[in-house]
Amino acid sequence: MEESSKKRGRQLMWVLILILTLAALAAAAWFVAFRVNRFSLELALTGEPKLQLEYGDSFTEPGVTPILRGTLFLKEGYTPDKLEIHRETDLNEGKLGKYTITYSTEFLNCTAEARREIRVIDTKAPTITLKEDPEGSLVEGVIYQEAGFTATDNYDGDITDRVVRTEEPGLVTYAVTDSSGNPAVAQRKIPLRDMILPEIQLEGGEDYVITLGTRYEEPGFTATDNVDGDVTAMVQVEGEVDWLTAGTYPITYTVTDSCENTTVVTRNVEVAVQPWQDTVYPEGKVVYLTFDDGPSAYTAELLDVLDAYGAKATFFVVGSGSGNMMRQIVKRGHSIGIHAVNHDYGKLYASPEAYFDDLMKMQSIIYDNTGVKTTLMRFPGGSSNLVSRHSCEGIMTFLTQAVQDAGFQYFDWNVYSGDAGETKRTEKVVDNVIAGIQEHRVSIVLQHDIHKYSVDAVEDILRWGKRNGYKFLALQSDSPGFHHDLNN
Ligand code: ZN
Repeated sequence: MEESSKKRGRQLMWVLILILTLAALAAAAWFVAFRVNRFSLELALTGEPKLQLEYGDSFTEPGVTPILRGTLFLKEGYTPDKLEIHRETDLNEGKLGKYTITYSTEFLNCTAEARREIRVIDTKAPTITLKEDPEGSLVEGVIYQEAGFTATDNYDGDITDRVVRTEEPGLVTYAVTDSSGNPAVAQRKIPLRDMILPEIQLEGGEDYVITLGTRYEEPGFTATDNVDGDVTAMVQVEGEVDWLTAGTYPITYTVTDSCENTTVVTRNVEVAVQPWQDTVYPEGKVVYLTFDDGPSAYTAELLDVLDAYGAKATFFVVGSGSGNMMRQIVKRGHSIGIHAVNHDYGKLYASPEAYFDDLMKMQSIIYDNTGVKTTLMRFPGGSSNLVSRHSCEGIMTFLTQAVQDAGFQYFDWNVYSGDAGETKRTEKVVDNVIAGIQEHRVSIVLQHDIHKYSVDAVEDILRWGKRNGYKFLALQSDSPGFHHDLNN
């Protein structure tokens, strides 16, 4: 009994030792595993910790991986299965902003947490839509009539009112920026149809008056256009002025700019008639001595004779005459009148224009030499001449009217001395003149002071005239003209 009791006691002891040993081993294992090894749990983010989400896209969760680590074991990491991961976020995909996702989990005594930042952004530019220009209503003047536009943004919606519109010639630019700073630009080419007419400025005005016999010269003009600038060179001038016939003549000025806008202005040129003077017949018996074709070498002598008798005369001078002598004629109280610059019938009576050119030129020569702007004149050959028929049919009929309309007074004669070819004898000239004078109360005597034999006749004529009560006067603009009957 004692034997078996001892044996049981030993067995019990061994069991106890075994249990204690196991317990000690377990304690050592726990100690090693949990105190020496020190477990830890972490959550590893898949993908970037900061993510951007384009507005309009939906967020796809990249996920997290729980990793268990220990200092002695599991150094490479271990992912426990079926670990519940708690996910918490304020993410709002419909609103731009910064959001956070918080992941957390726990295993055994360990807990782990990870955060991810999400930014909802808008990188899409807004869209600008231009309405089409309606046909036919494109432009009025050069001001563009906006056809309309809209701007929409994927995030902001309608942002038409934020569009900044700038206009330059031929181009409109529309620019807008959305709330995220994304810019958009659109452009519209506008076909600039210039509808503004060019302008023509007439120097001298639209009503322009010249006196008959004054050659019409364009007074000048300028033309400008809002687009083309100075278009003076493109002006077409049409119309003619008959400066020898009274009337009103329209001259049109036409200019078209590069956009086919045409401006026409009209200048009315009036060729005005100088009013005729009433003829005043002098009192008593009067002789107007007239000398054509000079002055010449004999004119000085003639002036002395006239002075000696207190007589005045009239000289119808030519272009070849001495200017100094013309001055003497005027200085000594005689009248000076126009004959011709060039006493060549063929050229002089070639046309009314040719005649007037000569007439005005001679007037100018006399004026330059004497300061007298004479309107007294005598047609070479007289108004009754036949010779002009060879050059120009009907010219004297035209000229006799035209020179008076131009303010000139033409003088023919009623006493002819015969000194132009019929005689070269002084006595004959004297006889002719005295005989002629006696037939008229008022005489206009034709002589030529280029012939000495005619100049020599003057003293006898004056002596006879004075004895017989004649006055010798110089022609004035209102003196009788003694116009001949016309032959051409
Ligand atoms: Zn003559």
